[in-house]
Order: sequence, then structure tokens, then C-alpha cells
Amino acid sequence: MDILIIIYMSVNFEKGSFSGLELTPRKIPYMKYLLSKNDLVRTNELSENLGVEPSTVTKTLDELVDEGYVYREPYRGVRLTDIGVKYASFLVHRHQILELVFGKYGISPKEICDEVSRIEPFVSKKSVDTICASMGHPTISQCPSGSYNRILCPENLK
Ligand SMILES: [Zn+2]
Ligand SMILES: [Zn+2]
Repeated sequence: MDILIIIYMSVNFEKGSFSGLELTPRKIPYMKYLLSKNDLVRTNELSENLGVEPSTVTKTLDELVDEGYVYREPYRGVRLTDIGVKYASFLVHRHQILELVFGKYGISPKEICDEVSRIEPFVSKKSVDTICASMGHPTISQCPSGSYNRILCPENLK
């Protein structure tokens, strides 16, 4: 990707004005995994945990590096950039909020988690923020498989 586009994206991210629809669905688990580690992660570790071939992991990481979400330290692994951390936090927040929405109708937490994982790539940040605000910025996550008890709403993290 052109360096000017990356800088432009960075500026947009600083303003918090991303749509939430930037990433293709298959990249979302990578971002969430890297956020949960908060450290350098090796390709093999991602491959094992995501159940994806190492060659595919390398290719996807190349794209995430080009897009500015991931930083690669040669021979040591990858980690999220500052923008990547911000974006991955949103991805977790979106999952958590959509689970609360589904949670009102008697579906089991495990089913909800699976359903939300399938639909979440197509829900915008604007909608997530609006729903979260209308719920009064809830603080406790209902996700049975997530690494976070706290809902990662920017309002809760202030
Ligand atoms: Zn979940
Ligand atoms: Zn909120």
C-alpha cells in the first residue's frame, strides 16, 4: 500500500473515524488473537490457534502489515501497531455489544457467541456505538469464550 494512504488512514484513525467495515472477515480472528496476547506472536502460534496453514498466515499478515494494523519484527514475530490495538479493541467491543443484543431473546450464550462471530464483520462502528450508548455503556461482557470480562467500550476505558 502507498505510504501516503497509510498516513491518511492513520490520521483518520486518530480522529476515531473508521467505519468498522475495513477488514475482511477472515482477518478479524488474527486481530483479536494479537490483542489478547499483547506481545510478539510467531506465525506458528497463529497457525495453530487459528487452524490456518502457515503459508496463509504469512500472506494474511503481509496484508495486515501493509494496511498498518500489524508490525513485523524480523525473526521474532508480529504484534499490533497502535492503530491495530485501537481497531482490535473495537472488534472485541462490537462482538460484546452484539452478544448483549442477542442475549435478550433466550438463545444460549454459546450459540449467541457463534452467531455473532458470523455476522459481526458486517456491522458498522456507528451502529455499535449507538447501541452501546442506548444501553448506557454496559461494563460486563457475556461472552463465554472471550478473554475479557470488561466490555471494551471507549467510554468505560476513560
Ligand atoms: Zn463471544
Ligand atoms: Zn459504549
